[in-house]
Amino acid sequence: MSAPHVLVVNAGSSSLKYSLVDATSGETPGHGLVERIGESESTLVHGGPDGETRIEGAVADHEAAFRMALETFRGHGPDLSSYDVVAVGHRVVHGGEHFSQPVVITDEVIDAVTELIPLAPLHNPANLSGIAGARALFPDLPQVAIFDTAFHQTLPPHAYTYAVPAAWVGEHGIRRYGFHGTSFSFVSRVAAELLDKPLEQVNLIVAHLGNGASISAILGGESVETSMGMTPLEGLVMGTRSGDVDPALHAHLHRELGWSLDEIDRLLNRESGLKGLAGENDFREVLRLRDEGDDAAALAFGVYCHRLRKYVGSYYAVLGEVDAIVFTGGVGENAAPVRAAALSGLSRLGITVDDARNEERLAEPHAISPTDSPVAVLVVPTNEEWEIARQSVAALP
Ligand code: ADP
Repeated sequence: MSAPHVLVVNAGSSSLKYSLVDATSGETPGHGLVERIGESESTLVHGGPDGETRIEGAVADHEAAFRMALETFRGHGPDLSSYDVVAVGHRVVHGGEHFSQPVVITDEVIDAVTELIPLAPLHNPANLSGIAGARALFPDLPQVAIFDTAFHQTLPPHAYTYAVPAAWVGEHGIRRYGFHGTSFSFVSRVAAELLDKPLEQVNLIVAHLGNGASISAILGGESVETSMGMTPLEGLVMGTRSGDVDPALHAHLHRELGWSLDEIDRLLNRESGLKGLAGENDFREVLRLRDEGDDAAALAFGVYCHRLRKYVGSYYAVLGEVDAIVFTGGVGENAAPVRAAALSGLSRLGITVDDARNEERLAEPHAISPTDSPVAVLVVPTNEEWEIARQSVAALP
């Protein structure tokens, strides 16, 4: 088989997600997820030609997880040797100011990602373990790093600079970086195709609403504003993250209640957002509770949509002219009530959602605004694995 394939890897602190992806078509003949790495009862769920296979056992580290995945490819298919696998593509969360493009991984790249650990203390070490494991098991394959932050390196200084002492940027990297870049990159290209215009000629507001959520203003294919900041905590309401709060909140909670900064950080990242307000981080549950008349779920829905609406309005002002508002991610692709509530009453801005189109469930990218609407409203399913595969191939010498 000659079509180039990429083994796409997303390593978390105790998990390893992998997919064999056809970089041209996006087809995924095999994929899997190893969970509870480092514990005595790790699990691997692998999908291939045999359907789903579940394997249990102890997996000490990411290298052992790759070994287990390779054995599963051998035992249950697909047969990796029958594909033209040209690279391993790694999702890396924080590329700081150092990386604005995907790069083939060298020792220097590893050093640079290591230096960025203070900006992503949970994510970058896990990504580095994934890279080390893959390098050990696939020594002959190029390894490529694709950074969540890279797409937003086009942000102008007035958008990425916090109004704090100027020396903090240079000395400590204190600035906005933005995340979800792989998804924004994929979705904006598909949106431009749907609008039948070159990417360089369209202005988009793209809302990636998954467990994590962020929204970007994209001018002619380049990110000029985005709601996540130095970390993925800033911006929209998320499954378990608060998004925007008063920056004095940490100090207040610390002073008045004696809570440690680590505990406050954990509470804002893991116990807030939809979970904090409604007791559920899964949006389907929030909708179900709201429909049953639960007041806390109704408030959570209201806060979520209001925040989104505020960002849509401000990014409209940032761009000046908007061709389309695009929804993606699990919530953006599926939760019609969110799309309707966030964009209601904006017809003076040229934004209208057609109720029937909005309720329709389609797997393909599609418009939910009336035909001839000045601003199109689109739903575009994201595919971060395919984007990583494409970018990995493009980064090869
Ligand atoms: P991740 O950020 O982990 O990739 P996803 O993009 O898969 O997450 O999004 C997960 C979110 O999408 C969850 O909150 C889930 O409840 C929500 N979601 C999935 N399907 C639906 C649906 N049919 N209606 C509403 N929300 C949904």
